[in-house]
Amino acid sequence: MEVLYSSTRSNGSAVKASQAILKGLSDDGGLFVPDHIPALDKTLKELSEMNYQQVAYEVMKLYLTDFTEEELKTCIERAYDKKFDTEVIAPLVEAEGAYYLELFHGSTIAFKDMALSILPHLMITSARKNNIKNEIVILTATSGDTGKAALAGFADVEGTRIIVFYPKNGVSPIQEKQMVTQKGANTLVVGIHGNFDDAQTGVKKIFGDKALAAEMDEKGFQFSSANSINIGRLVPQICYYVYSYATLLKEGKIAEGEKINVVVPTGNFGNILAAFYAKNMGLPINKLICASNDNKVLYDFFTTGTYDRNREFMLTTSPSMDILISSNLERLIYRIAGNNADANKALMTSLSAEGKYEITAEMKAELADFYGNYASEAETAAEIKRLYESCGYVLDTHTSVASAVYQKYVAESGDTTKTVIASTASPFKFTRSVMNAIDEKYDAMGDFELVDELSKIANVKVPQAIEDIRSAAVVHDVQCDVDKMQATVKQFLGM
Ligand SMILES: *Cc1c(COP(=O)(O)O)cnc(C)c1O
Repeated sequence: MEVLYSSTRSNGSAVKASQAILKGLSDDGGLFVPDHIPALDKTLKELSEMNYQQVAYEVMKLYLTDFTEEELKTCIERAYDKKFDTEVIAPLVEAEGAYYLELFHGSTIAFKDMALSILPHLMITSARKNNIKNEIVILTATSGDTGKAALAGFADVEGTRIIVFYPKNGVSPIQEKQMVTQKGANTLVVGIHGNFDDAQTGVKKIFGDKALAAEMDEKGFQFSSANSINIGRLVPQICYYVYSYATLLKEGKIAEGEKINVVVPTGNFGNILAAFYAKNMGLPINKLICASNDNKVLYDFFTTGTYDRNREFMLTTSPSMDILISSNLERLIYRIAGNNADANKALMTSLSAEGKYEITAEMKAELADFYGNYASEAETAAEIKRLYESCGYVLDTHTSVASAVYQKYVAESGDTTKTVIASTASPFKFTRSVMNAIDEKYDAMGDFELVDELSKIANVKVPQAIEDIRSAAVVHDVQCDVDKMQATVKQFLGM
């Protein structure tokens, strides 16, 4: 059955999957949502006999219904290949009876690779299907991680170019090194003289410039966006929850149909929303456990029914979760409002005007599947140390937030349901915070010395992504002032 996509903010006409991927965001500012959540049409037993690519196909074909079998399979093959350092793509590691789903085996060693390695292929396929002849130009402003994952995904993908703007003095030295060493003739990395907000505002301005869009079209280009509200990023994330269940079943850790819990370290709410969709497709999931760091807007929301961003923004050791507006939550709000665009729009208007909104008691009752909690900085560090000392497994800071919240959940509920914890980054990506949590003595060491020490104590090989930045040559040294961003784009495109 065909799935169409409509906006969370109006009841206008629905579009096909490929059109939703090309547009990213609906014209009214809403997010695209499927008109229904399709049910899995393979049994759990059948799925347990498939590899990652096959499971991905079985899930994605149900959402991207205007893609042919061949188109979708080609996208999947090109995405989940040797760029991943393990054939299983997303391995499950058992530690203390919980199952850590390692989503960090792609080229930038964080979970964003799971979606950003396939998005470019979905996008060029979508362009072809809609008879778009222009080259797709991806514009991104980044505070660090997304930029590199998008660069790695789009590098050398024919029919695309990618331009990333980052604050010249606002990202970590490792993040900067990762970006400025990016290969690929279709890539451009620019350090701007300003902060992340300046970069983001500049990009939005370029996107909104109608005269520029017309000029681009004449020269055979059009802009698109790779940010996390694109449905082409959400759908690929559903696959690994299904795959983790299938793996547990194959390995005899659970019986067919047995429910599992899922714990997700959450920022923009995309990853946990994918788990929610998986549950609604029929995957036997009991609780969806939403883990926050000190920016605990979501914990407060699940506890009180009020979403309130009016609070101090905290910088933590899990920076990818330092978010006060979780964009993808809008898709859940729309759903618990009974797929009511007007009700959702009223709440989102309140969020932008007053920074908060309150859901009804009826809507709150629909959130019974979710459990929210948070871990402080001290609790996050303590959990890294505790698990390492108990079994030798080393978590990154984001995954540690999830693990600490899981401990709180078990202590409160006594629930012994088997549990999958989404492990969203390699500890090598946040080496200093991780090593300092294990022992303060490490603080005296240099960055790469620490990398080698982590490899030794965790008994894990240093990932290629880290080896690369040790030796790779800097290939991008473009900088510009905020008011020169558009000129920089045009120059790169030869306009
Ligand atoms: C992006 C990110 C998250 C948060 O995921 P959301 O989908 O935004 O909730 C968690 N951990 C890491 C390492 C990330 O990069």
